Amino acid sequence: MLDLNGQSANLEANEAQSADNAVKILPSYLAGKWQTSNQDLRTVYHAITGEAIYQVSSHGCDMKAAVEFAKKNGSQIASWTFHERANALKQVASYLLERKEEFYTLAKATGCTRKDAWIDVEGGFGTLFAYSSLVRRELSNETALVEDAWIPLSKQGNFGAKHILTSKAGVAVHIDAFNFPIWGMLEKIAPTLLAGVPCIVKPATEGAEMTQAVVKHIVESGFLPDGALQLICGQTYDLFDHLGPQDTVTFTGSASTGQKLRAHPRFNQYSIPFSMEADSVNSAILTSNANEETIDLFVREVFREMTTKAGQKCTAIRRAFVPAHLLEQVQNKLISKLQKVVVGNPELENVTMGALASVKQKHDVAEKVKLLSQDAQIVVGGHLADFKVEGADANKGAFYPATLLVCTNPTQAKYIHQVEAFGPVSTLMPYQNLQELADLVARGEGSLVASIVRNTDDNVEELVAKIAPWHGRLHILDASNAKESTGHGSPLPHLVHGGPGRAGGGEELGGIRAVKHYMQRTAIQGSPNVMTQIGHSWTAGAEFFEDRVHPFKKSFDELRVGERLLTARRTVTEADIVNFACLSGDHFYAHMDKIGAENSFFGERVAHGYFIVSAAAGLFVDAAPGPVIANYGMDNLRFVEPVKIGDTIQVELTCKQKTPKPLKDPEQKAHGVVVWDIKVKNQRGELVATYDILTLVERA
Ligand code: NAP
Repeated sequence: MLDLNGQSANLEANEAQSADNAVKILPSYLAGKWQTSNQDLRTVYHAITGEAIYQVSSHGCDMKAAVEFAKKNGSQIASWTFHERANALKQVASYLLERKEEFYTLAKATGCTRKDAWIDVEGGFGTLFAYSSLVRRELSNETALVEDAWIPLSKQGNFGAKHILTSKAGVAVHIDAFNFPIWGMLEKIAPTLLAGVPCIVKPATEGAEMTQAVVKHIVESGFLPDGALQLICGQTYDLFDHLGPQDTVTFTGSASTGQKLRAHPRFNQYSIPFSMEADSVNSAILTSNANEETIDLFVREVFREMTTKAGQKCTAIRRAFVPAHLLEQVQNKLISKLQKVVVGNPELENVTMGALASVKQKHDVAEKVKLLSQDAQIVVGGHLADFKVEGADANKGAFYPATLLVCTNPTQAKYIHQVEAFGPVSTLMPYQNLQELADLVARGEGSLVASIVRNTDDNVEELVAKIAPWHGRLHILDASNAKESTGHGSPLPHLVHGGPGRAGGGEELGGIRAVKHYMQRTAIQGSPNVMTQIGHSWTAGAEFFEDRVHPFKKSFDELRVGERLLTARRTVTEADIVNFACLSGDHFYAHMDKIGAENSFFGERVAHGYFIVSAAAGLFVDAAPGPVIANYGMDNLRFVEPVKIGDTIQVELTCKQKTPKPLKDPEQKAHGVVVWDIKVKNQRGELVATYDILTLVERA
């Protein structure tokens, strides 16, 4: 094993040259060092030219030391707040974006067109940006996440609970597939790092050059603590033997590898979560009375999924279901589009589809197509011998023709529902009725995604109910959303990506859900005071403080969580209700019609809920200019009891939570968000309304 760190600061110069074929060996980044080996080397070839481009080997790398380094050094990220982690990710994303052309250049060796590479490169950076802003928007600036409001467990309110999530004190190992070397890593490390957990990434050997280039830049950028991100270029060797009860593993790739890895005894021994995303025989469905426009949408979607990234997308459409009477029409339209595909070197302008990632993959797809053709007839492509490749040698590169099969008897078929040919391959098949369609879709035994392409007035409720349990995502496309749809094949940061059964049973992305996968949820029982301490958020029933100075006169820094104002009282009169009705235009019978109100749920006229909210503001606001800049929102509003004519209301305003805001520009005045707990009570002390208001308050 070679430790490359002592030799040169420049990683390029650090890349050792293998003696036998003089291609570079990609180093791994483990325990704070770039390191590689000359033993047990695996070579990767250019997808277009077939030339050897690099080798990998992690032979002899100390995996135990890497796990320990992550836990000792990388875990520093757990002491950062969610917003600090999110800001670091945003800086990383901007840093990478400035260097994007380097990654596009490397992508050429994987057979991609620039459009294909965009999904991986800028799609990957976009995922970092999206996660960064999601966390800054949705989570408070703390290290732990308080998941729910106070759960009362006693009559007097002195004992209750909340669930909190804390960063796992372990490492997340991410094993990625070859098809998205950048996005595949970033979509996993973003939620992991935001959860405060360090990662060890093992990219597929094919494509590892792109992952390695990104990791190299992230390390150089210095935005993350050393050890928060480590990289294995090569094999994992004994890595799993060093994992323990706080660790997590995710895997994307083939079902056979995933199943093998999942059976590691250590995972069983320590209940280590193993999230898997594997072969998925995704569907597209054309509804039974589809019109011409809908048929065209369907054909466009299937075509796009077959040819984008040469069909090497985990979400690509493998099974296309059409009503039996439309089979011929759809088949003809698809054939005519597929016959126009120009396969070849993506450097040429007229080339519309590049190569597969490797010659090995080409042979794998050919094998799988052989299996599929036991169930179905090939109507386009499918033969390696006689298809035209532009600007490259078909024998040396990993080219495979766009291939459409038609299966006329899908209920009797076997392979088309089970085998994923991971290339530009799809099978078209007819269905007779809704139940048969749902049964056929379910024969895929669990998929990542299905598209339903419908006329805008088709009701697909029953179909959705039948097939949703088999999928992680359903994409319903029609003429009304076609222009804006993100498409069948795009996993989005905000939406769940994963699927049951054959698709692996894992779940990635899905907004904050993904962050929670790397955190431990703990129910904390105790008093309101303890809960206020732990979550830094005032809990009803906890101690409060009163002061002669109005809280709106205090700066963000002077305010204390738990600071309380008890306002003067106000008796609600009929004039209040009439005036508010005239001012707002809300003459609802419960407020304005004596007879209607008497016959109603309330039994008499009641004040408008919005009047109570407005009157409450009148009671707690300090009118003079001060540090409160603006009121910018209200959450969790509930009208608990009606307020009747003659009732007297009073407000308790308590400082619940404080979050400093980062400055967008240095000219801006420093400020933070203060959340106030508002409780409006009547003369009997009964709660009539409760809500939170959010104000922007200047810092001292
Ligand atoms: P694979 O052979 O299962 O490899 C997936 C990942 O696992 C790679 O990083 C691979 O590293 C690693 N790996 C393999 N054996 C391992 C071991 N014993 N210990 C630790 N890591 C190991 O899959 P693939 O060749 O990349 O793709 C094959 C098929 O997977 C495709 O044809 C397709 O059907 C499916 N696939 C599915 C998805 C999806 O998201 N649903 C995505 C891509 C591929 P090395 O590359 O170094 O072997």
